[in-house]
Amino acid sequence: MAVPGDLTGAIGKYFEWMRPANMRHMIPERCSGCYGLDMEATRSEPDGLGASADRRSLVLVREAKGWTQRDLAGQAQVNQSTISKAENGLTELKGQTLQAVADALECPVALLTNPAPRSALDVSCLHHRRRASRLTATAKNKIGAVAHLSRLSVENLLAGYYDMPVLVPRVAELDPPDPVTMAAQVRDRLGVAPGPVPNLVASLEAAGVVVFERPLGSTAQDAVSSWPHGPGQLPLLIVNSGLSGDRQRFTIAHELGHVVMHRLPGEDQEAQADLFAASLLAPPEEIRPALTVLTTAQFRRLIELKPVWGMSVAALVRRAYDLDEISDRQYREFQLRLTNLGWKTSEPVDIPAEHPTTLRAVLERRLAAGESVADMARTALMTEHSFRRYFPIPSRPGALTAQNGG
Ligand SMILES: [Zn+2]
Repeated sequence: MAVPGDLTGAIGKYFEWMRPANMRHMIPERCSGCYGLDMEATRSEPDGLGASADRRSLVLVREAKGWTQRDLAGQAQVNQSTISKAENGLTELKGQTLQAVADALECPVALLTNPAPRSALDVSCLHHRRRASRLTATAKNKIGAVAHLSRLSVENLLAGYYDMPVLVPRVAELDPPDPVTMAAQVRDRLGVAPGPVPNLVASLEAAGVVVFERPLGSTAQDAVSSWPHGPGQLPLLIVNSGLSGDRQRFTIAHELGHVVMHRLPGEDQEAQADLFAASLLAPPEEIRPALTVLTTAQFRRLIELKPVWGMSVAALVRRAYDLDEISDRQYREFQLRLTNLGWKTSEPVDIPAEHPTTLRAVLERRLAAGESVADMARTALMTEHSFRRYFPIPSRPGALTAQNGG
């Protein structure tokens, strides 16, 4: 995949968000989940006060807040040394102090006292939209922790209500990934007909890939993904809500590239995931005829192609460049034109975003089985307030019928 040295134009900016500063963020331990992205106070239930906090859970939940030990101590109005000692296993956090910490973290006490499973979980990549964006260590820890906790909540909610076999292939540990071949294999497994992918999210969900759309609390990252190597573990793509359809589709395809190709951190993984995404959405020989003899006088042609392929104009230009349908000079001209048109920040023609349905359907089944939202929040190890904020709560099935029919 040719990568021009000068990526200062619109396309460069566009692709900048696909290139994270830290490609993979390893999380050595796995723990439980509550989200710390909003600051609204919610009291958690006073359960589990006899137990003490699991130190790994405590660290993870604090990091999901983006808080230092000092921040947490301040919010919970406890001594900072107490937090520090608890996280280092030097003291037990329990009773009213534990309750105060849980309240500050907006999570159930049961989450903090839950012994964290010891399996490893890697989060494959973080996306940056802004060129100048540099994640601080705290921000990296935060997105990693949020991803980790999201997986725990999602796995808990799916348990017993979801039995979809995973159909997407996965590169064996020592094989060097070939993104183009891998994308073709994935399309084959997804049963996608030649040409554009009509609904990428639906195809992935039908193949056992879980897509969780939720606010990530920042525009600095678009998605984060993981597929642990433990038995029965699912590929999970967590995607920031509010993305444009073309960006969302490329982001999801990119994350899928990570989970099917990348097991451990390595070089060139961002370029590989980009090439995988482009090849998945627009296989070389299927899109090539549409991009042949492309010139900068043909923006109308690109705008027409955008809804057909569900890819941005910038991504289509890049595709033409990677397939050698335009020269280096033409590519630079395109970048200049895209900049001058203002399309680096906003392109014409909106592509509708795709919305996953798996999680919503599972929650509907739980409701139908008689569970309340509070029950489901407990299963997710979250407060009901946070659960309602981040999960797609369906209206209760049959509620209308019950009201009308008595
Ligand atoms: Zn990536």
